[in-house]
Amino acid sequence: MSSMHRRGKLMFLTLAAAVLVTAGGVLVYPVLRTLPRSSRVVEWIRHPEEHPTWAIRAGERCGDAPFQFPTSGYIGFVWGDSFRPFHRHSGIDIFGGSAPGLTPVMAVSDGYVTRLAEWKASLILRIPSDPLQPERQIWVYYTHLADPQGQSLIDEAFPPGIEEKFVQVGTLLGWQGNYSGRADAPVGVHLHISVVKDDGRGKFLDERRIENTLDPSPYFGLDLKATQWKQDPFMCQN
Ligand SMILES: [Zn+2]
Repeated sequence: MSSMHRRGKLMFLTLAAAVLVTAGGVLVYPVLRTLPRSSRVVEWIRHPEEHPTWAIRAGERCGDAPFQFPTSGYIGFVWGDSFRPFHRHSGIDIFGGSAPGLTPVMAVSDGYVTRLAEWKASLILRIPSDPLQPERQIWVYYTHLADPQGQSLIDEAFPPGIEEKFVQVGTLLGWQGNYSGRADAPVGVHLHISVVKDDGRGKFLDERRIENTLDPSPYFGLDLKATQWKQDPFMCQN
């Protein structure tokens, strides 16, 4: 092999290594950034009574934010957190620090509740006019409202298949649970809530993809975006 060939090969290998390291960093960095929050969540779930200042309270709001808090507890994970490579968390997770079925969950705003027939643990609130961009419609998705076997913890006012039931802000919707979607594989008891885009034709998009959701920060009036290493707990600034 000529020395020119060797140099070409070396350059190619160096470039390939640089690409791999960058790609690895881009994938792994968000996971690393989320890790400290995971340990705080574990501490909160074990000893909520030792950390009363970590919790937000249902029904309160930050300043004149459009949404009030839907439930009480510790905001453990935020928008953009990453639990594994390629995963980006599309909402926020509020851990009540209680057993399933004890921590109430309420409407963040006036709106219209729909629960698909197959939804055991989820419902969605349609807000016809986005308080931040009134010409568009948005949706607020709630999930994990069931026990480990998938027994629903949604209030009986919202049975499976119900569509477009008007609720006022603060209306009780159900209680926090820990159903993961599979029986007997519980997650920590919490509410997952996300702000979901409309498809432009009056339907909500799939909230599991972060690009189908909106940054919840301006709706709740506090910074809930996982863009940098951040001091939590997440609390109102004023
Ligand atoms: Zn979540």
